[in-house]
Amino acid sequence: MDGEFKIVCFQKDHDRLQPGFYFSSLQKGAATFDLRFKKPNEGNFLAQAALHSIEHMLATALRAGAYGEHILYFGPMGCRTGFYLLTENMRAADAFDAVKTAIGEALRYEQVPGARRQECGNYLEHDLTGAKAELSAYLALLNALPAEALAHEEARMAEKEGA
Ligand SMILES: [Zn+2]
Repeated sequence: MDGEFKIVCFQKDHDRLQPGFYFSSLQKGAATFDLRFKKPNEGNFLAQAALHSIEHMLATALRAGAYGEHILYFGPMGCRTGFYLLTENMRAADAFDAVKTAIGEALRYEQVPGARRQECGNYLEHDLTGAKAELSAYLALLNALPAEALAHEEARMAEKEGA
């Protein structure tokens, strides 16, 4: 210990982190997953309006889905390379399926949910088309992930649960 407090997320080597789906931490019973859409520090970031719309779309679709009661939080990373999903009493594999199902639902939305002036802090800054393009690309990435990648996240989570 060097006596310096570090947030779990910042301990990863972000220059080696590839887009994907990662178990991040387990704290007070809440699991945090890292939904990484973009490779960090490569100059290709989610556009702010698409990021904002994805927040609305997936937060809605995740809560409306089969695992809705296990969803504690879904929100964007300030670095605009992905999102955090916080869950309770949920396997990594189930969180992975919930995300894929929610993206499928979100791709059918004809408008961004909760994007009226009374409901949102920046209601003009939305991009449904841009959000869908990013969601489609991320879904294709998730579908192409080898089974070992998810098994690895399951194992890392189980290790924390046993700790
Ligand atoms: Zn908003």
